[in-house]
Formats: sequence, structure tokens, C-alpha cells
Amino acid sequence: MNDQQLLRYSRHILLDEIDIEGQEKLLAAHVLIIGAGGLGSPAAFYLASAGVGTITLVDDDTVDLTNLQRQILHTTQRVGLSKAASGKQTLEEINPTIKVVALQERVSGARLDELVRNATVVLDCCDNFATRHAVNRACVANRVPLVSGAAIKFDGQISVFDQRDAQAPCYSCLFPEDQEFEDVNCGTMGVFAPLVGIVGSTQAAEALKLIVGIGQSLAGRLLMLDARTMEWSSIKVKRNAKCVVCGQAH
Ligand SMILES: [Zn+2]
Repeated sequence: MNDQQLLRYSRHILLDEIDIEGQEKLLAAHVLIIGAGGLGSPAAFYLASAGVGTITLVDDDTVDLTNLQRQILHTTQRVGLSKAASGKQTLEEINPTIKVVALQERVSGARLDELVRNATVVLDCCDNFATRHAVNRACVANRVPLVSGAAIKFDGQISVFDQRDAQAPCYSCLFPEDQEFEDVNCGTMGVFAPLVGIVGSTQAAEALKLIVGIGQSLAGRLLMLDARTMEWSSIKVKRNAKCVVCGQAH
């Protein structure tokens, strides 16, 4: 790290748990963020400001006026532009010393697999079950830790699915692919603006912890927030031996 980097990251370097060694791990890391919307915005903000060396931001959508209530990466001037490109612009303004790759694509199959394989940690910040399951499959296949977040109305959920641990569940152990879950999205249900900030920031915290290798992750726990009462709760999530995604993977 040069003098400018030592200054920029000094408040992290001051933490015994991170120090110079941890900051160097962050600079060497590559985080893949699926979705540059409500959850992806705060997550990407903190990962970029904290010095994650490479961030790939994937979103096939464009900025809409209805997004601006909560998707804080984007601005009024950028309505109509690609969310990935808008996000890249914001992140580079905060931290021009990192690399941000913007992909305006809906990724799946071999393309998704390749992106996941090259990532240190993956953040699922999307809004539909088809993508969530595709991202989970790629993370299980490549043993890359997945930080999953969801927010709708006043309800938020966060968990980590870390297949580097043979006992840890995957996303599909909790939400089986063959089970019918109705996609509920903010477009029809509404969402409390700061809720996505809380959930997305928590995803960033889990990603940073996983990269540096500190503390205890949310693997095996589903953390839930009811923002009406601001009550947090968590339940244990066990690996399902019959899971069609990770059951044969071990
Ligand atoms: Zn599983």
C-alpha cells in the first residue's frame, strides 16, 4: 500500500481485527454483486469505500424514477441509463483507486459460473427466485461464499451460505428449488427505503468479514428484521442432506 492508501484506509487499519494484513486482503479481493438496486447500492458503496480491489456489478436494468426512493447509487440525472454503468460511476467517484466492472446483463449458465468462479465472495442483491437459485448453484459448484439479502415491505432477511464448510447449508436447503415461492417484488408490494440500506449494509459487513477472515459469519443462521418494531430475530438453518443442489456436492 502507498501512503495515500494507508491514509484512506487508516480507520480500518487501526482495528486489530483488520490491520494492514486485512486491508491487503480486501485490496486483493474480487466481489461479485448481482443486482445494482436497493440492496446492491449500499452494499457496493461500503465495499468500494472500504477498498475491495475489484467489484463486478451486474444488472440488466436501467435507472427508473421509481428506483430513486431507495437505490442510492443512482441519481435523477441518470434516469434511463444502465444501473451497472451508473453504479460504476458513483463507486469510482468515491474510490477511484479500485477497479469496478459494470455488466449490463442478465447472467445465467456458463457466463454466471465463470463470474462466480473468479469471485472471492458473491452478494445476491437481486429480486427474483430464478436468479437467486442460479447464483446459489454457481456458488455451490465453485465453493464460493454467498451473502444473500432480501427486503420487502418492512421485512428483511440476511444469511451467508458458505460451501467451503461441508456442514453449512446452501440457499436451496432453506428455500428448495422445487417449492413454489411467489416472487414478490418492490414494484407491486412496496418497500421501506432505509430497510434496503440496513440489509444491504449488513451484506457488505458479512462480505468484508469473510474476506478478512474475522468474527463469525451468518452461515447456518437466517437473520430477520421487522422494521415496524425494529426487532431482529434469527433462526438456525441446517444443511438438508437431500438438497438437490448441495446434497451430492459433498
Ligand atoms: Zn443445499
